[in-house]
Amino acid sequence: MNTAPGAPVTAYVALGANLGDAQAALRQALNDLASLPRTQVLRASSMYRSAPVDSSGPDYVNAVAELSTVLGPYELLAGLQRLEQAAGRERPWHNAPRTLDLDILLYGELRQDDPVLTLPHPRMGERAFVLLPLAEIAPALVSPAQLLKVEKQVISRMASL
Ligand code: ADP
Ligand code: MG
Repeated sequence: MNTAPGAPVTAYVALGANLGDAQAALRQALNDLASLPRTQVLRASSMYRSAPVDSSGPDYVNAVAELSTVLGPYELLAGLQRLEQAAGRERPWHNAPRTLDLDILLYGELRQDDPVLTLPHPRMGERAFVLLPLAEIAPALVSPAQLLKVEKQVISRMASL
């Protein structure tokens, strides 16, 4: 990874929502990501619909966006959390239904195990709703073996984001 200060880093962000108009929430979030400081959205996957895993409520709508950013990893996380708050995110309990969830999947090649920010995202390899949209925009980052592991999860591709 290029660690020169101020050099842009490619990061992948997972977008998810399952309350209210989830598709509208994801479209709004994509616009908002593009307006984060010193950040561009390079690609966005289609939206995918799946039943909640370890959660409850209506079906989830998920997508993945590829960003180029000069923000540091914690600055990016703080920016995402502000967007979640602006979308009305509440955390009444762990894994509660949510208006908007924005997770950092990958931040360049950074690997770290800090509970505030674990990278790569610790559960991304178990989730079809992350791996399928990620494979759509960055096929080299998802192996056939990873896709095989999640092939039984029911998920359907919807509209473009
Ligand atoms: P979920 O695990 O369902 O995304 P939350 O969105 O409530 O749950 O996130 C819980 C915490 O996970 C956040 O406060 C954040 O500090 C932490 N976290 C750790 N690694 C990451 C990551 N890669 N992306 C986003 N949040 C992360
Ligand atoms: Mg989250």
